[in-house]
Amino acid sequence: MPSEFDLIARHFVRPTPRTVLGPGDDAALLAPSPGAEIAVTTDALVSGIHFLPETDPERLGWKTLAVNLSDLAAMGATPRWALLACVLPDPDEDWLAAFSSGVFACARRYGVDVSGGDTTRGPLSLCVTALGEVPAATALRRDAARAGDELWVSGFLGRAALGLAHRRGEIRLPAEILDACLDRLEKPYPRVELGVALRENALAHAAIDVSDGLLADAGHLAEASRLDVEIDLTRLPEGFPQGFAAAPSLTERFQRGRLSGGDDYELLFSAAPERRDDIDALGARIKLPLSRIGRFVAGAGGVSLRDARGEALPVFYKGFDHFAENIQ
Ligand code: ADP
Ligand code: MG
Repeated sequence: MPSEFDLIARHFVRPTPRTVLGPGDDAALLAPSPGAEIAVTTDALVSGIHFLPETDPERLGWKTLAVNLSDLAAMGATPRWALLACVLPDPDEDWLAAFSSGVFACARRYGVDVSGGDTTRGPLSLCVTALGEVPAATALRRDAARAGDELWVSGFLGRAALGLAHRRGEIRLPAEILDACLDRLEKPYPRVELGVALRENALAHAAIDVSDGLLADAGHLAEASRLDVEIDLTRLPEGFPQGFAAAPSLTERFQRGRLSGGDDYELLFSAAPERRDDIDALGARIKLPLSRIGRFVAGAGGVSLRDARGEALPVFYKGFDHFAENIQ
């Protein structure tokens, strides 16, 4: 059986050009850029809770890092470094090789060094700590939305929830939408370019990534900013390809997923109405649809849904919370 050190050297040590001292010592050494604040975030993925045990290991590796980069994107930070703590059952080298190639594919794509980590034996779980940089006092915080701001969302919502239902065998997705849904679930692209551009061009006030579901995460923005947020149901981005006619049961599930499904890793952000054109231009430049879906008004953390006539609809679905009785 390979030693812990063989496993680390074979699978987890790659060049770290952005790190003063990478894997191999007791701690890594990082040199922040002058004037930068460090944004740091950590997320654990536990087998059976955050991913199905049979998940493709390469996609799992990608996602393990990607979900952390999504948090950095939501702060407007540029990702730089990551630490990877792996708790592994008896080492399966093929699994590890595939897993680490997914991790490093994501690291390369977003310019991140894996600067260190930890490897121990136990029930499969994976934890990344990611660090990014943001010029002092410019990060996109949850508490910075202003009354009168509009609420925007990137990409499409609800696809990951459909992908998960398919993987669990609850539904069978038609071929036209299968890959898009599974990709969003298993290989999400964190919206780093968007988060950085929103911050660099001072386009957004507050931001959050959608990991718990639209209603829950819009609620987090509203609560932190001490405002209410109104979401126009009719303005949510269409998720199905043009001309695709979904069965009613699928449409119902999809509507629910768009409002409360987690795991889409899109960005939700608030911006002044005067910035509409600039935000549209940014979406066109980075080829990412950006939809204006609501507004912030005076209040105390409430979320409401509006129909086509602006009438308030009851809010049925909540987001995901590991400790609450949830997901109605
Ligand atoms: P220590 O016992 O001092 O905590 P370890 O034996 O856990 O050190 O790790 C040895 C070196 O290998 C450290 O520099 C650590 O950062 C690195 N390392 C361990 N596991 C990983 C991993 N999964 N990915 C990247 N680097 C790792
Ligand atoms: Mg250690």
